[in-house]
Amino acid sequence: DSLFSRLSPTPADEPFAVNGAYIQDTYPDKVNLGIGVYRTSDGSPWPLRVVEEAEKQLYQASDVSRHEYLTIQGDREFLRLASNLVFGFDQEKQAQAEENKSRVVSIQTVSGTGANRLGAELLTRNLRPGCVWVPDPTWANHHTIWELAGVERKSYPYYDSATKSFDFEGTFRTLSSANTNDVVILHACAHNPTGADPTKEQWKMLAELCKTKGLIPFFDLAYQGFASGNLEQDAWAIRYFFNYNPRLEFCVAQSFSKNFGLYGQRVGALHVVTSTISEEVSQNLLSNLCHLVRGEYSMAPRGGSEIVRTVLGNETLKEKWYEDLVTMSERIRQMRQALFDELIRLQTPGDWTHILKQIGMFTYVGLSEEQVSKIRSKHHIYMLKSGRISISGLNESNVKYVAKGIDDVVR
Ligand code: PMP
Repeated sequence: DSLFSRLSPTPADEPFAVNGAYIQDTYPDKVNLGIGVYRTSDGSPWPLRVVEEAEKQLYQASDVSRHEYLTIQGDREFLRLASNLVFGFDQEKQAQAEENKSRVVSIQTVSGTGANRLGAELLTRNLRPGCVWVPDPTWANHHTIWELAGVERKSYPYYDSATKSFDFEGTFRTLSSANTNDVVILHACAHNPTGADPTKEQWKMLAELCKTKGLIPFFDLAYQGFASGNLEQDAWAIRYFFNYNPRLEFCVAQSFSKNFGLYGQRVGALHVVTSTISEEVSQNLLSNLCHLVRGEYSMAPRGGSEIVRTVLGNETLKEKWYEDLVTMSERIRQMRQALFDELIRLQTPGDWTHILKQIGMFTYVGLSEEQVSKIRSKHHIYMLKSGRISISGLNESNVKYVAKGIDDVVR
């Protein structure tokens, strides 16, 4: 008898499980709309052109220190560039930028997941929040992360299935009943899984609500530049919260998986924004973060962060990166349009305009669990049981087939 024989199984992670089932399927026209990864128009992964250039530069230079440890905090130049990207410090007047920068403590993380996890650990241990408010629905890993942190999870109604858009009234009403020191998870842009975001006016009211109720916003930023093709636009909500007066304190979990296509490299950062400008507060905050990281894995990996640092630190490469962001976001936008056009052409019952209105990699296409199961068994089209589809899995050769499949299961 094993010490472990009493363990009960844990639920499989759905996107990875759907991906596994897709790989096993031998049907030639199968389509993978499950996992959230970018694919080109021929269905392949895409190492960004600018990443390939940075790799060439890095690997040509035979620096003997290239495999040394980073510091526990991570690569400081990478962190400086990463926080500029989020908060836009490099677009501010110098004195203002210096003051603003001193409100932010940053640490390199094992991508966006690691940043979410580290932030959860920091807040739980030091601030003991009464609960965390999670959008319903949300990226499923938010639940796992906060469950592991041991914090009670409550949800706020994020999605209005009647209007197929963000449920502002429901969110506002629910969060009005939250208590001081509760954490609120907010997707900075391109909400996963619905693709529905608050408007600027709604973000403004949410910032005010967080301030008056004393809530701790926790932004998850996994799609900056990837969602709209524009870095400023996708960081708008975070920058608004940053500049809110009186000052708010909050966390930002930043991922470079999607916008740099560096999924397996695990590149990210956690930024903690404070209201006071105090060297002592910042130092203590950083030392606490470093303590947590040291006990978990000592420091984040350096391979991917060097690529990001190389690109963001070079004006020419940065310009090329902007072009790559436009390439990816445009292709996704075109596929939204193509799917919509095809459903209209087929006169598929229902209103499909949400496919065009929603933003980013995902859309709640509007199929029931039963229809999702049918489209998989009958047409070999894979998606999450909520009806979330990854638009990036669509291309010119399969979009008609997918539309036909949807048409078939909704009739
Ligand atoms: N948050 C959200 C909302 C996401 O969609 C993702 C990617 N699926 C992540 C965080 C983090 O992914 P990663 O750990 O690869 O950065």
